[in-house]
This record gives sequence, structure tokens and C-alpha cells, in this order.
Amino acid sequence: MKRAIPVWTAILIVLLFLTGCSAAAWNAPAAPVPTPAAGETLTVHFIDVGQADAALLVCGGQAMLIDGGNAADSSLVVSYLNGQGVEHLDYLVCTHAHEDHAGGLSGPLNACTVGAVWSPVGEYDSKAFADFLKYTRAQELEPVLPRPDETYLLGDAVVTVLGPRLDYDETNDTSIVLRVEFGETSFLFTGDMERAAEADLLEAGCDLSATVLKVGHHGSETSTSYPFLREVLPEYAVISVGTGNSYGHPSEEVLSRLSDAGAAVYRTDQLGSIVAVSDGQTVSFTFEKSESAEPVQGPQGQEAPGAVRYIGNVKSQVFHLETCANLPAERNQVEFSSREEAVAQGYRPCGGCHP
Ligand SMILES: [Zn+2]
Ligand SMILES: [Zn+2]
Repeated sequence: MKRAIPVWTAILIVLLFLTGCSAAAWNAPAAPVPTPAAGETLTVHFIDVGQADAALLVCGGQAMLIDGGNAADSSLVVSYLNGQGVEHLDYLVCTHAHEDHAGGLSGPLNACTVGAVWSPVGEYDSKAFADFLKYTRAQELEPVLPRPDETYLLGDAVVTVLGPRLDYDETNDTSIVLRVEFGETSFLFTGDMERAAEADLLEAGCDLSATVLKVGHHGSETSTSYPFLREVLPEYAVISVGTGNSYGHPSEEVLSRLSDAGAAVYRTDQLGSIVAVSDGQTVSFTFEKSESAEPVQGPQGQEAPGAVRYIGNVKSQVFHLETCANLPAERNQVEFSSREEAVAQGYRPCGGCHP
């Protein structure tokens, strides 16, 4: 007796053909992204490691570390993991071999048990990478490069490998790119990927949309191109960057592109470690340094003094202090007399001026 293909399977097959993301490597979550259990959260800690990257993801009792900052940040990252009660990392990811990503992974590899280690390369000529390899092997593991379009579970979050899709000479473009979906929210981790690798993800037709974008290469001008950003359309953009760094990161161009895209920008140089919590529906943030260290979408704080004016952007639904450098064009402005009024009308605070 013939049986009809279930509708969702048919839809999935059609989608896979349409997206161009190869079906061969699909290691089959049997259904779309699981609905998170009531009360379950995905927490993403963008750890402040200065001019470097480190992010800890925790969901359903499982943990993933994406980069560990510089070698000098190794013990800081270990203390952070201790503070979160993390002793086992299900996944440890070295997005690419540069020291500001690989260097600080030695400490966690030494302090925690690790399930799997991912890296785009198996060798690289630097002490930082040699140490990363040494401590990986001490766990009786070898770094592996997951294939594009493979999916992995972290609790009820689905981690999809988007890149690298090709071989690159530029080390930044070799970055492992991961999209993490939890319920209806999503996070995109880009390492230091630059324009060329961004274009290859676009070319492959991958789903890049994300609630939260970890901005590529510390906000360098060489990343976060307009075509890429148009697909991601993040509500929030997190930049991991050091105060007064010699590279001039983040660049004015990238900040202005993010502003045009309507993203609220959060920076580790201004806010310290940034913690994003998703309940599967919305993402709320807390910051280590901010005076108002309360979730931006949580209960509202003090009434703002009457003299302060707030300017909303009717297109992006982001609101600013009237002194903000990123005010929208006048035709797109709407004025609010209080922070509460702006929030009540569904506007989000700007990450630059923190209204
Ligand atoms: Zn970097
Ligand atoms: Zn790099």
C-alpha cells in the first residue's frame, strides 16, 4: 500500500532544494526546531575578553564555548565558567586559529572535560595554537571541522554549521560560522569572517536570519557587508571589542550599517560581559558594567526626568536620546516624553546612547 509523504517532509525536501544548502550533510533533526520546554532558556554569555572573542552558551544542562579570548584571558574564562558552574563543555569551538580566539581555550581545555573540539585547521604556526592542540590531545581528542549544514543539539537549541563552505587563504574567512536556533529566536556567531566568506554564505542561500548577531571581526570594516546584513536583519548586534584598541574597531561604517538595519548595538568595551537570555520567544539582556543592569525588555526602571526627550525611528522602532549620534532622518522621527512611553509603543532602546 502506498503511503503519502508527510506534508512536513515534503516541505523540508522542497526547502532544501530551494536553499541550495546541501541535503547530503543534513544529519536529520526529525522535525523542525523543538519547542522549548516551559521555563527552559538558552543563555549566551558574551564574556568581556577585551579585543578578542569568547562566548559561552548554556541550554538544557549542556554547554558550548565559542572561542576563549587571548592566551592572557585563559584564567579569566576559566573563572567565568566556574562562576556558572560549568565543569563540562559538550562542545568547544575554535572559530579560527588567530590568538585572540584560540589563545584562551587552553585554560578551559585544562579545567573542564570536553565532549568535542571543533577547529577549521589541525595545525597553525603559533604558540597559542600549539597550546590549544596540546590541551586538546591531553583530553584524548583531535580537533574536527564540522561540515556545512550539519546540525547539533545543545539542549533544545539547534546548532547549524553554516561555514566555512570553501577553502580560504585568509585565516579570518576560515572562521566556523554557527547559527543557533532556540524556539523562535536565533543567534548567529561569525568569528572573524570577512566579506568574501559572507558572500559565499549568501551564494549558498543559507538561512542567515538572527535575532542576535555576534558582529564579525570585532566590528571591522572588512565584515558585516550590507548584503549580508540585509539577510541577517538582527534586532540586536553584539560587538566584542577592547577599549581604545589600536585597530579602530568597531568602525564607524559598521556602526552606521547596523544603525541603518535598526539593530540595537551592545559592546563589551562599554558594557563588560553581556548576557543574553532567550525563553524561546524573546531575548533579554543584562550587562556587567551598566548602571541599569536590568533586562531591556524587563520591568521598567525610574521615570526619566521631564526635560529629556526621546526620539524614535518609525522604521526601525528603535529609540534614542536626542543627543545620540545615530538619530534617524527627520521624516522618520517620532518624539516620546518618557522612556516608558517609547517602550509601551514597542520601541527598543538604542545600544549606542542607552536611553
Ligand atoms: Zn579576532
Ligand atoms: Zn582573526
